Amino acid sequence: MAIHSIKGMRDILPEEARLWQFVERTAREVFESSGYEEIRTPILEETALFRKSIGEGTDIVSKEMYTFTDKGGRSLTLRPEGTAPIVRSYIENRMAADDVVKLYYVGPMFRSERPQKGRSRQFHQIGMEVIGSSSPYFDAGAIFLMTNLFKKLALSDFKIKICSLGCAKDKEKLAKELGAYLTPEKNRLCPDCKTRLKKNVLRTLDCKVESCRSVLRNSPKAKDFLCGSCGGHYKKVKDLLAELKIDFTEDANMVRGLDYYTNTVFEVTHPGLGAQDAIAAGGRYDNLVEDFGGKKTGAFGFALGTERLLMALSSEKKAGPQKKGLDLYVATTGDKMYTEAFKAVIPLRENGIFCEVNFQGRSLKSQMRQANKKEARFVAIFGDEELKRGEVALRDMKTSEQRNVKLSDLAKEVREGL
Ligand SMILES: [Zn+2]
Ligand SMILES: [Zn+2]
Repeated sequence: MAIHSIKGMRDILPEEARLWQFVERTAREVFESSGYEEIRTPILEETALFRKSIGEGTDIVSKEMYTFTDKGGRSLTLRPEGTAPIVRSYIENRMAADDVVKLYYVGPMFRSERPQKGRSRQFHQIGMEVIGSSSPYFDAGAIFLMTNLFKKLALSDFKIKICSLGCAKDKEKLAKELGAYLTPEKNRLCPDCKTRLKKNVLRTLDCKVESCRSVLRNSPKAKDFLCGSCGGHYKKVKDLLAELKIDFTEDANMVRGLDYYTNTVFEVTHPGLGAQDAIAAGGRYDNLVEDFGGKKTGAFGFALGTERLLMALSSEKKAGPQKKGLDLYVATTGDKMYTEAFKAVIPLRENGIFCEVNFQGRSLKSQMRQANKKEARFVAIFGDEELKRGEVALRDMKTSEQRNVKLSDLAKEVREGL
């Protein structure tokens, strides 16, 4: 019986993994050049962490989490997102400092959604969190960092939408008004939204059901309930983005399907993705640290979906990094040569020469074909007679010139020729 990968979880094969490495390497460089350091949290967390932070009544918590009970009777969940675990870690490891704490992460997340284009059950995110300040400079700074990463990846057709949800008090006012607006329309709402109306009315705003969308079209909006301070914060973020020459549009309907956001939220879309067009999203969460028992402190973060970013890049037909050819292919004329060849490549590799040896007992002709296929720059031929004199034949694959060189000089000769 053949065993297959789990539905919605797929293998990333070498050809594609090269693009992943390119994207992840570029992200690391961009984050680290701005003082961000990597954090790696476990993939499994206590379920309560996500229930409490993302919120009851959100799609993630009510439908999409991979939750199970372990042998000790604990409810555990495969992380559906990266922010809550990092906030947990920040508090648990007493990371709070005089200055802001800047962290980034790269890794898999899990949500049991219906698999579709750009959406798998194990998906991957690259994200950052800056914890320790409520200043709008960090909102604009993080968005700039993201656009800078897109620039380094040569991604161009993305669009940024921003909105402000206000502080907890503003959100409370919105929730109250929204409840009052929706109650008389209750019968037009889907069953989920009927529950949300009682449990977590703001989450009705995420509903994708058409009847709910049409009821909500003229509902109260977050921007109408911003207090003076939140209105000022939002204006400053927009001014700073304009200062940084970052194009954006305001979207009063944006809510983000997570409870913990306050003030600025943003989303980045790309036309190369179809209906599920978000490639990145994030926002401010000024209450989450306190909600988990830390000192009240502001924070901002975003995550981009690696699969979606790669789809966006491929839709723009941007050439990714090419496979690197071999520097040296070591051909052997019989198995007596194997041990010599096996040993000879060790110092070559230590000298940074990318080389491979043939141990397959192929004919010399077939080995030359292989060397061509692997785009080898040089081929060293280990032959009996030459080796007795401590030499090997070195063939330049560009010029087809061949000459004997001292085996002890092989690394030097190849280095010089590259
Ligand atoms: Zn406010
Ligand atoms: Zn609904």
